[in-house]
Amino acid sequence: MHLSEKKAKTNKIIATLFTSVIGLAYFMIISGIDNLSDNIVYILYAGGLLVCYNTYGIFTKKFRERAILKAATFPEKWKKILEKYVQFYNALNEEEKRRFETEIQIFLHETRVTGIKTEVDDVTMVLAAASAEIPVFSFPEWEYDNLGEILIYPNAFTKDFRTEGEGRNVTGMVGTGVMQGVMILSKPALIGGFENSKDKKNVGIHEFVHLLDAADGKYDGIPELFMQNQYIAPWLEIMRKETERINKGQSKMNPYGATNAVEFFAVASEYFFEHPMALQKNNPELYDMLSLVFRQDTKSKFKTALKSAFNYTGIKIGRNSMCPCNSGKKYKKCCLKNARTY
Ligand SMILES: [Zn+2]
Ligand SMILES: [Zn+2]
Repeated sequence: MHLSEKKAKTNKIIATLFTSVIGLAYFMIISGIDNLSDNIVYILYAGGLLVCYNTYGIFTKKFRERAILKAATFPEKWKKILEKYVQFYNALNEEEKRRFETEIQIFLHETRVTGIKTEVDDVTMVLAAASAEIPVFSFPEWEYDNLGEILIYPNAFTKDFRTEGEGRNVTGMVGTGVMQGVMILSKPALIGGFENSKDKKNVGIHEFVHLLDAADGKYDGIPELFMQNQYIAPWLEIMRKETERINKGQSKMNPYGATNAVEFFAVASEYFFEHPMALQKNNPELYDMLSLVFRQDTKSKFKTALKSAFNYTGIKIGRNSMCPCNSGKKYKKCCLKNARTY
C-alpha cells in the first residue's frame, strides 16, 4: 500500500472528470426547469456545488489520507520496535527509513489487524506491516489489492483454523473460500520470525511472498509480475537443482522448500531477506536470481488497477459474517472488537 505520486495523480484526474460529469448533468437539469424563482435557482446551484465538492472528496479520500500520513511523524515506540526486531530496516539509509515508516503507517491505516482470542499489541502490528513491506520495498507502485485484513491467532492452528486440539502445525496462511484474501498469522511465530534473524525463517515474509506469487493469477512459484520472461527457465532450473540438494541433505535451505515450487519460492525468499549474506555464500545463483526478482525496478509492470485508484483497501471480513473464532456470533459482536488500524 505504497504512496504513489503517479497513482495519486490518476486518482485526482478521474475524480475531477467524475465530478464534472455529475455537476454538468445537475446544472443541465436545473436549467431545463421552467418557472423557477431566482432564489430557488440560487439555492439549487449552491446545493449542486456542495454535491460536487462531496463527490470529489469521496473519490479522493484514500489518497488524501495517504498524503496526511506521509506528513505525520512516525510513532517513537514503533521506531523502537523496528530498531529492535527488523534487521532489514536497520540496514536502510535515513531516507529509505523514512519511506519504510510511511509505508508502514499507510499499510496499517488501510489494513485491519484483528486479534482472534488474543490481543494485537504494537509489536504484532508493526511486525505484520514490516513483513508486508520488506518484499515489495523496491516497488513503489505495488498494492496488496487483495488483502485488507490480517487475523492474529494466539498460537499455531490447524488447516481449518482451529486453535485447540490435534494437528496444530500451521503458523501462517492466506485464506481461501470465505476467508479469501485474508491472511492469518500466529502471533508467537510472527514475532519469533523477527527475533531470530539467523534461522532463515520468517512466517510473515513467507506469507506475503505467497501473495506476490499469486498476484499474476496463480500460485505456481513463478512470480511473473516480478520476473522477466527470459528468467523463468533459469529460475525453474535453479529450483530443480536446489530441491534435489535439499532431498539429498546437502542444502542449507529449510527443507520445507522442497515441498513444491510454491513453497520453494516462499522459503527461499525468507532466506534471502533474513540472511542474504549466507544465501549469497551458499547458493550465489539463487541469491542473484532473487536479487533480480526483489530489487529490479519492474514498476512499469504494475498497471494501476482501477479499484486501487479509488478508496478500495482490500478484502475484509464482513461485519455481519460469522466470527472466525467459531463462537457462532457475528464478527462485529465478537473478535472485530479486537481489531486495530492506525
Ligand atoms: Zn507457504
Ligand atoms: Zn470471535
